[in-house]
Amino acid sequence: MKDPLPSIDLLADADEVVARIRELSERDFREARAARLEGVQRVLEETGTDALVLSLGADLPWLTGYEAMPLERLTALVVARGATPVLLVPELEAPRVRPDDDLFSLRPWAEGSDPYELVAQLLGKAGSVAVSDRMWATALLEIQRRSPGAAFSAASSLLARLRGQKDAVELLLLARAAHITDIVAEEILSGALRLAGREEREVSADISARLVAHGLQRVNFAIVGSGPNSASPHHEPGARVISSGDPVVLDFGGVYGLGEEPGYCSDTTRTVVVEEIPDGFIELYHALHVAQAAARREASSTISGAALDAVARDAIEAAGFGQYFIHRTGHGIGLEEHEEPYVASGNKVALGPYAAFSIEPGIYIPGRFGARIEDICIAGEHHAVSINRSSRDMVIV
Ligand code: ZN
Ligand code: ZN
Ligand code: ZN
Repeated sequence: MKDPLPSIDLLADADEVVARIRELSERDFREARAARLEGVQRVLEETGTDALVLSLGADLPWLTGYEAMPLERLTALVVARGATPVLLVPELEAPRVRPDDDLFSLRPWAEGSDPYELVAQLLGKAGSVAVSDRMWATALLEIQRRSPGAAFSAASSLLARLRGQKDAVELLLLARAAHITDIVAEEILSGALRLAGREEREVSADISARLVAHGLQRVNFAIVGSGPNSASPHHEPGARVISSGDPVVLDFGGVYGLGEEPGYCSDTTRTVVVEEIPDGFIELYHALHVAQAAARREASSTISGAALDAVARDAIEAAGFGQYFIHRTGHGIGLEEHEEPYVASGNKVALGPYAAFSIEPGIYIPGRFGARIEDICIAGEHHAVSINRSSRDMVIV
């Protein structure tokens, strides 16, 4: 690719994104990983951390393109400061690793041998070690036992900024994931995907099938909450038959990827009304619509997660629905469906350039109904772009 980072405005253009993805070669992925590793070495240097040990979780595929199976046998990428990383994998998993000599040296360990001894050797006299947040406790305890002098910390504290700042490859895959997901959102809004007279779980299965048919590798979730169930943010779609007068919250997403490359997540929510608008719902939806738009307008790389959360919250409070907005405004997204940076009152730091995050305020009146509008946005310096493009107007289906 010629330009190191695509303009964020380009990411909203589905055809442009498809064209750019078609140009991606294996080399682009390898170069992206090499740049990420440089960033990791820089952070180890800056923080005076001696080593990083990655195992289960998204940090490993982010850095190596390899995702470990959640097995009891140890997979560990040991990144010592200033040294070439070493990837320890069980011998039987080694064929799944795509070697990259520029990035890491691959060391399969044989069944019956002790991989923790190898980790201890690689850590040597390391005094500070950061480990994957998702590493199993059994593995961490073994590593700690053999490096009794070291102080251990969570890798997320080191990597959040790096992983939060998406590179060109990641932005394109995220945008493509969003655009595919939008196709299904539009099918719902146009009535092509029918809601009335069907069970929530039937509609959920329909959404999931369409997401895959349109090009996602897999579906992460397809929430369908109708009528009073729309007031439960993470409602599990059930046997309730959707009928006239129901608001319906539809929140769905999955993973888009190329070949063996790790895939990126999508996540969007639209709320529609079936045939007739129930009393009081227009006011609720209008307040939500205004709040979500305000947050999208104020989003940028320089605003903090807390300040952006406050934009949506203040608008909903001003409309009198404050007590019914019971969750944070959003979450980061990438290899994981929920990751840093969080658009939440606790996150006082700037979102950062090329952060990818959701803006998804909701209003939920228990026992009656609720609504949520969710878009994935990419932060630029002066504004953010929503890579979800389907209509946010109140649609009657
Ligand atoms: Zn959620
Ligand atoms: Zn969602
Ligand atoms: Zn979300």
